[in-house]
Amino acid sequence: MNKLFNQLQTVKHRIDQAAIKAGRSPEDILLLAVSKTQPVEAIFEAIQAGQRDFGENYVQEGVEKIRLLGERPLSDNIGSPITWHFIGPLQSNKTRMVAENFQWVHTVDRLKIAQRLSEQRPEHLPPLQICVQVNVSGEASKSGCTPEEALELCRAIIGLPRLQLRGLMTIPAPAEDFTAQREPLAQLRQLSGKLRSQGIALDTLSMGMSHDLEAAVAEGSTLVRIGTAIFGARQTS
Ligand SMILES: *Cc1c(COP(=O)(O)O)cnc(C)c1O
Repeated sequence: MNKLFNQLQTVKHRIDQAAIKAGRSPEDILLLAVSKTQPVEAIFEAIQAGQRDFGENYVQEGVEKIRLLGERPLSDNIGSPITWHFIGPLQSNKTRMVAENFQWVHTVDRLKIAQRLSEQRPEHLPPLQICVQVNVSGEASKSGCTPEEALELCRAIIGLPRLQLRGLMTIPAPAEDFTAQREPLAQLRQLSGKLRSQGIALDTLSMGMSHDLEAAVAEGSTLVRIGTAIFGARQTS
């Protein structure tokens, strides 16, 4: 078996082990393969190995890959189709391409972006699945709304016709030690619980990357976004 297949299996095993340890069911955690900067060939290999959800960070690059893979005949036992998640920073002049090509957006952090995505989501497609990105650690440089802004933004998204609010997402500052990793992830989980108690329906906690997957599963993540551990190091431009 090839390297990518093995790495994918290793990641799934990590999810399974972390879930069991947390008393959770591994099926409740979706594995999103983050394929930014990786060639179409690598994505194709991952598809052949059974992976179905992919995350891209750059609009142009993502749309190009979606197009190339759409043209490519996949083996006929492929089963369920591929789901594309946009997980990068989103400027308002790029929302149309995202609304037309992706099924999920994890990085909505202001009303203007949400409104544009809803207006631009084509009628023939199902509603765009949305996570609100929250900056729980409060670093000035990071994108994401503040925990205080989340309630109002969630309410606004619920009111937009072509969007479906699914949950919250965060990218914490990197931390080495397990306890330190858990802290911001616990904050996102608690915020999600608080919003639910205020009547906001949320079923997704998008958190956990290659280095903090175990901490994220321990804190209730339902969707982990894994790049390096599946595809290896990224090409830097
Ligand atoms: C790149 C990226 C990931 C994946 O990171 P790895 O450390 O390679 O697993 C996850 N989420 C977001 C938002 C990213 O930009």
